[in-house]
Amino acid sequence: MDVTAPNDESFSIEVILSEGGKTAPCCPHGPTLLFEKVRKGGEKGRKFYACSACRDRKDCNFFQWEDEKVSEARLLAREAENQSKRPPFTQQEYCNQFRKFASLPVEEKKFCQDCQILLLPGEHEAHVSHRSMAVSAAQLRRPSVLLRPLDNKKSNAQYLFTDRSAHFLLDTLVALGYRKVLCVGTPRLQELIKLRNLEQNHEPMKSLLLDIDFRYAQFYSQDEFCLYNMFNHHFFDGEASAVLQAFLTECDGQKVVMVVDPPFGGLVKPLANSFSLISQTWRKLQSSDCSNADMPMIWIFPYFFESRILECLPSFTMLDYQVDYDNHPLYKHGKTGRKQSPVRLFTNISARDVVLPKEEGYRFCSVCQRFVFSLNKHCAKCNVCPSKDGREWKHCSTCEKCVKPSWKHCQSCGCCALPDHPCGHGQEKEGCFNCGSLEHKRKACPLKDTHRISSHRSNAKSGGKNVSHHPLLKSKAKRKSGAARRAKKMAALSK
Ligand code: SAH
Ligand code: ZN
Ligand code: ZN
Ligand code: ZN
Ligand code: ZN
Repeated sequence: MDVTAPNDESFSIEVILSEGGKTAPCCPHGPTLLFEKVRKGGEKGRKFYACSACRDRKDCNFFQWEDEKVSEARLLAREAENQSKRPPFTQQEYCNQFRKFASLPVEEKKFCQDCQILLLPGEHEAHVSHRSMAVSAAQLRRPSVLLRPLDNKKSNAQYLFTDRSAHFLLDTLVALGYRKVLCVGTPRLQELIKLRNLEQNHEPMKSLLLDIDFRYAQFYSQDEFCLYNMFNHHFFDGEASAVLQAFLTECDGQKVVMVVDPPFGGLVKPLANSFSLISQTWRKLQSSDCSNADMPMIWIFPYFFESRILECLPSFTMLDYQVDYDNHPLYKHGKTGRKQSPVRLFTNISARDVVLPKEEGYRFCSVCQRFVFSLNKHCAKCNVCPSKDGREWKHCSTCEKCVKPSWKHCQSCGCCALPDHPCGHGQEKEGCFNCGSLEHKRKACPLKDTHRISSHRSNAKSGGKNVSHHPLLKSKAKRKSGAARRAKKMAALSK
């Protein structure tokens, strides 16, 4: 019996991105990623391919050892499975259907809530026993309101921007002079851009949505939506990469920017790789004078991924702006004032130019040359505005850096820590098992209930250790006997 605990921290799972030349096998989500189990001592394990998009076996159970010989029969079965998971229509067909739908009289415009599709008159019959609703022209323009947000805990939970955050983003892009917005996993932003275009009093903006949720395909034309996987830069429709190319071409000085809000459970490295590929495509399409420029991007992600993101994309900076979500159980904009969201903007746009709203408590720090949250006071000793979480941090002269307000310097550990930290347990800093943050343990994880990060453990500071709850590990964990599991649980509770 394999009793590898899911939080056995003696190894990590690393993604290997450049194993030049070899083509990865495909799962329904496009080319898989190559992973490698690395033990603490550096000893490497057998490499394997697994789904790029799904962190849970239940969602995609693709698994193949790198050196495995796959039988013809299995290849055929795999191909059939991949085919069966494809959307039923091409983008062209979706677009034609949408045109028909839009021209229907009001009383014939129906949306099936069970199937999450718009129904043309001929289809009403087949859905009579389903819950359906009438769709107004206004509702048709807001697919992100009409569609039920996916709540698949591990891979694809959809968290939609509050109006406050969505408008902030759009206003910021407008102010910076962008005219084309590549919306990657940001359907609500795309929607807002199209709504804004309906108002006559300003220059229209173009937008293209790249998303893996094909329900959105129903509402857009071919040059507005591409089914796309941001973890392997895969377009499900062969012609779609041409759509992206056309979009990235800046004619008549129309500047393009990308805004991406990936699922927080996503691995940073493959995401950064895809975004770099988009940037490369953009660069090739530029006139010669900016051959080494990067495409402007905003990546929305929790602040405790800062070091990992900067590791992959060193030209990015994290901004203090707190992004919040409508349907997020914890970070809703409540009547009693919003709880502090851990989600921030990472961008290669000059921080000085991204004006954060004064009325929400942001100010400009002239030393740091960026807008910061009001409680983020500039520390003369560190010479930065140090706070990451929105609270006021304080300087520890022994550690020679600013730390969280709740931390105290501990003589025996020789560093600052929470007053109730397991003292004397050495320097071995083990972050939160859920999200990888060193600031808290899993029990106190602000994202625990959302499971948005539950799949990826990143050790924010050491950078080197990184255990993801990979399908493989998951399956092993499941194989653990009930008794072993209970014993472990009891041990944890009695701490
Ligand atoms: N805040 C955004 C939604 C973010 S939720 C908004 O309000 O517009 C994450 C989004 O990424 C969802 O739209 C989801 O469908 C999409 N997504 C999840 N996994 C993806 C993948 N592998 N590739 C592309 N898009 C993905
Ligand atoms: Zn898959
Ligand atoms: Zn400062
Ligand atoms: Zn300081
Ligand atoms: Zn201590």
